[in-house]
Amino acid sequence: EVYGPRRRNSAGLDLSVRADRARLEASVVVLDAVTLSAGPLIDGKVVAGGAPLPVIAPANDRKVVGAVSEAQAPQIDEAFRLARAAQPAWDQAGGPARAQVLRAMADALETNIDRLIAILAREAGKTLSDGIAEVREAVDFCRYYATLAEDQFGEAQVLKGPVGETNSLRLAGRGVFVCISPWNFPLAIFTGQIAAALAAGNAVLAKPAEQTPLIASEAVKLYHAAGLDPRLLALLPGRGETVGAALVAHEGLDGVAFTGGTDTAWRINQTLAARQGPIVPFIAETGGLNGMFVDTTAQREQVIDDVIVSAFGSAGQRCSALRLLFLPEDTADHIIDGLKGAMDALVLGDPAKAVTDVGPVIDAEAKEALVAHQARLAKDAKILHALAAPAGGTFFAPVLAEIPSADFLEREVFGPILHVVRYKPERLEQVAGALAARRYGLTLGVHSRIERFAADVQRLVPAGNAYVNRSMTGAVVGVQPFGGEGLSGTGPKAGGPHALLRFAVERAVSVNI
Ligand code: GLU
Repeated sequence: EVYGPRRRNSAGLDLSVRADRARLEASVVVLDAVTLSAGPLIDGKVVAGGAPLPVIAPANDRKVVGAVSEAQAPQIDEAFRLARAAQPAWDQAGGPARAQVLRAMADALETNIDRLIAILAREAGKTLSDGIAEVREAVDFCRYYATLAEDQFGEAQVLKGPVGETNSLRLAGRGVFVCISPWNFPLAIFTGQIAAALAAGNAVLAKPAEQTPLIASEAVKLYHAAGLDPRLLALLPGRGETVGAALVAHEGLDGVAFTGGTDTAWRINQTLAARQGPIVPFIAETGGLNGMFVDTTAQREQVIDDVIVSAFGSAGQRCSALRLLFLPEDTADHIIDGLKGAMDALVLGDPAKAVTDVGPVIDAEAKEALVAHQARLAKDAKILHALAAPAGGTFFAPVLAEIPSADFLEREVFGPILHVVRYKPERLEQVAGALAARRYGLTLGVHSRIERFAADVQRLVPAGNAYVNRSMTGAVVGVQPFGGEGLSGTGPKAGGPHALLRFAVERAVSVNI
């Protein structure tokens, strides 16, 4: 039986429709005339935090998009206090009541789609098509979790037991969740984590990535306007070392949902382990070192299209993105030639223009790490093709390189660098084994007409999301539940039917009648 809750995915906008395209481009121009600001948002009010710091557009390092002020320790305490006071009533209201608020939030996101996409283009350097996909995903998370709240947090489940006794089981919220989200999906993942925690009956303290507080502030205001008691959701912007560290060390915490780098996940885990008080769940979605395996039966044109999207779409800044392409010796050169041609056709530049395929990377630090990795590839491996980056922002242009094996890469490289590994088909086990030995397990791609090959690759390289004969990014809520294992995350999967379970406690009641 197919599980499909009563819901449809958001339609979004179509960039091939001229009016939509023109309206979106114009909304960025409108945004360019104003300076946004974000600060701690507690009980629905912006309060004065630390000295304001500028938020710079990745595509133009002289353009200030807005200012952010960091949450201070007493504000964090106050946010915990208010959240704890408001949470029991929210939990007791039940799943169906909470679903209504989440659906109102989904509608509010759709109503504000132009402005949200403009902020994503400027603050996060997202292309317009990535912006559309991101708003759609945020909407889908709200509607999907609304349905799960109704299905799973309504009536208690009655269990079979001895005569003379009624036994039941129900799910309830844990209390106050801390949600820490990344800059690469600063609206979708930010909104989605919060929606999951709220759907399960929790209050939320949200810390957005330090690079993207402005879009997060918009989202929190929309949640409040959608009818959420403002005490149930506070925004606490700031750096990981300060605000993030204070939040996860706090005694008022009942759980943490985190998406970001594996190193940060280790640190959070350590802090939680050292903390006194309730033992709380840690839900982490971290990095990937994702491979795609091609065999000689694969269809070349389809491989080329899917590789370009998977490796260079979103400037490679997805944890699901393709990093290692395994090509069989016999067809490798032919595919590489095609990839070079397709790379040359990519349009790099201002993400706010509809023609742009690849925008900037998020900041100077990200760019420097990619430049350093490219230098290592030039010295110790082989660059096959490299595009030229536009000037004036933190642009890093797509690179195709060849490395001897997955052993060359210790860790995730976050950006548009694709590594090719040539392999002899009879050595598939060893070649795939070297990738699996890295212990990441997020996405996996296969291109082959032979089912047996696809099954072998999936057995050799465990991954949370496998994609066969298609691109390997852009998981759709409710269709491809998303998340990895090993160094890539703890589960449960975002946008899947079990997503809310770790945000909840289970309570069993047994009554003798
Ligand atoms: N869910 C996204 C995808 O399937 C990736 C999320 C991430 O990069 O954190 O492409």
